[in-house]
Amino acid sequence: MSVSVKNITKFYGSQKALDNVSFEINPGEIVGFLGPNGAGKSTMMKIISCYLPQSSGKVSVCGFDVEEESLEVRRNIGYLPENNPLYADMYVKEYLEFIAGIHKLNNKKEKANEVIEMVGLTPERNKKIGALSKGYRQRVGLAHSIIHNPRVLILDEPTSGLDPNQIIEIRQLIKTLGRERGEIAGEGKTVLMSTHIMQEAEAICDRIIIINKGKIVADGKASEIGNFKEKNQKIIVEFNDSIPLISEALLKINGVLFVSKQKETLFKIEADSLKDIRPEIFRFAVENKLSVLTMQKEEQRLEDIFKELTTE
Ligand code: ADP
Ligand code: MG
Repeated sequence: MSVSVKNITKFYGSQKALDNVSFEINPGEIVGFLGPNGAGKSTMMKIISCYLPQSSGKVSVCGFDVEEESLEVRRNIGYLPENNPLYADMYVKEYLEFIAGIHKLNNKKEKANEVIEMVGLTPERNKKIGALSKGYRQRVGLAHSIIHNPRVLILDEPTSGLDPNQIIEIRQLIKTLGRERGEIAGEGKTVLMSTHIMQEAEAICDRIIIINKGKIVADGKASEIGNFKEKNQKIIVEFNDSIPLISEALLKINGVLFVSKQKETLFKIEADSLKDIRPEIFRFAVENKLSVLTMQKEEQRLEDIFKELTTE
């Protein structure tokens, strides 16, 4: 297990920021940690990265306990904090060599050059950090977080504040790091990245954990979270023509729960999600001398589910 979080609770004074949170992340997984502002994402990431002690519960990273073996944990983790603090007056190369020194790496210059190349900072490497655009500063942060070749990356809102082009570039970079830059060939780094943007999690991650008010409310593959809440299936069907009392007739199909007429020949049919009723709809059409012009299952969008799970 790369990251194991067991029954973590965190209080700030009397305020509970995390409430009995548990999850595990396998080596090589890219996991999105999704939730609205104030949900507890940063708090959880700080605990995993040894920056903040938990109130109760256990966290281990690559088998090392965050409280008892924090040096080992830090060695295995690359952490990009939410506001990516950087020294504005240092030059990119100088800064990364300095970080390599903090990690006590032998070949500081080489290591700095290697990560500069990896994150696409080569053209900017002789500039002062303060003179860089936000997107390039974020690359410096990423370079910082991977310089010691950690097995686990913890990225807190890595794309927040970037413009759309920079967002695409940073997302691509995270994907690349996750898929190709692992210690073992073919096995990428384990990545846990937080975001409050649904589409971002969907675009980058294999798996999504949704947190709200300090509690995990969903955990699964992006495609599975769609089925997380057992929902009725909705089918939109258009016939070439109509028959008298067509809605009532459709309602008689086994499994159909609700029919709403959108237009004269266009219907939205809700049915029990356990049974595929599409063949029944075709049979209905044939029996009534109708043709089905279009039929489509209305997918419940992940974004709607996110909204549903995180608002009352
Ligand atoms: P997120 O990263 O999901 O936006 P945070 O982990 O930053 O959420 O915050 C979770 C909750 O804990 C929020 O209600 C926030 O106000 C509170 N909180 C975070 N940091 C502190 C702190 N240092 N002191 C007191 N309360 C805090
Ligand atoms: Mg945060």
